[in-house]
Amino acid sequence: MKIAVINSGSSSLKFKLFEIPSEKVLCSKVVEHIGEKDSLIQNHFEAIECLHVNFTEIDAVGHRVVHGGERFRNSVLIDDEVIEAIKDLIPLAPLHNPANLEGIRVVRQKAPNIPQIAVFDTAFHATLPKEAFVYALPYAMYEKRQIRRYGFHGTSHAYLLQKAAQLLTKDVAKTNIITLHLGNGASACAIKNGKSCDTSMGFTPLEGLVMGSRCGDIDPAIVLYLQNELDFNSDKVNTLLNKESGLLGLCGENDVRNIEKRKDDKAKLALDIMVRRIQKYIGAYMVVLENVDAIIFSGGIGENSHYVRESVMNNKILKNIRSFVIKTDEELQIVNECLEVLKK
Ligand code: AMP
Repeated sequence: MKIAVINSGSSSLKFKLFEIPSEKVLCSKVVEHIGEKDSLIQNHFEAIECLHVNFTEIDAVGHRVVHGGERFRNSVLIDDEVIEAIKDLIPLAPLHNPANLEGIRVVRQKAPNIPQIAVFDTAFHATLPKEAFVYALPYAMYEKRQIRRYGFHGTSHAYLLQKAAQLLTKDVAKTNIITLHLGNGASACAIKNGKSCDTSMGFTPLEGLVMGSRCGDIDPAIVLYLQNELDFNSDKVNTLLNKESGLLGLCGENDVRNIEKRKDDKAKLALDIMVRRIQKYIGAYMVVLENVDAIIFSGGIGENSHYVRESVMNNKILKNIRSFVIKTDEELQIVNECLEVLKK
């Protein structure tokens, strides 16, 4: 059996083809610069065409879809109704969901008979209890406006849970862990008895840990100050918080490999702030979980930076907690989700 995974972004399309059950990657391709000025590839259909994939050989296609809102608690087989529902969620993910839908649309056009499955970044966090996902805003903001914590990176946290349970030789349903997906985007997740019960990203992926260029947690009143005192409009605020902050904003670059090599104060401070934030989340999640079987490090930084892992774990409270490094594989998790959906 062959299952393809597509991650369709606004200007890129990532394609990976797996053979099942061997889990062998048969083909892995990325098309970039879609729709950009002077690019040879002007839309997602052309991007699919230039992959030169023979869709008649493929049994199913799994799509990464960023936002499933409250509607999608699991992966689903895509039909017209699912497409409409993903469209309805565009206001919650205005950059990502339309691009994900484009990927779905062009595969439907090219190969209308292949089952397509939507795998949502938010779905793993559908188990968050209300006290974890409702913000302390007027309750109508949740009830009427759907403003709540959704959490992201769910596919990665779900994969890490499966692998961690194997390493711990525990049932997934009895596994209590803190997973740290530390890449350019970063999030922490408290997993109790195999279910996400708190996570650091929120209404959007901006909340929580210090990331490559996102600030993570800040006092929300800073936004008011930027608008009222410094005349920032919403675009400027958005750019500042999402693209100019985090490690990049603190020390001028966001690649931890380079930052670790630097000897200057700003580089050291940037790493110290990032590490402190991770530790604060671990501390909070230890209280939420009560028993922690292990802390899992993953993502480009979590998997590769000995310095960051050591700095996080170098703490009296954490000295008796096991920690593992697990290389995340979101595409393989999407394949596994597809298989679950196809089984049903
Ligand atoms: P990701 O978004 O998961 O691909 O992670 C990307 C980030 O991982 C890069 O921006 C680097 O900061 C970090 N990274 C990758 N390799 C290393 C390494 N060998 N040491 C430290 N950080 C690394």
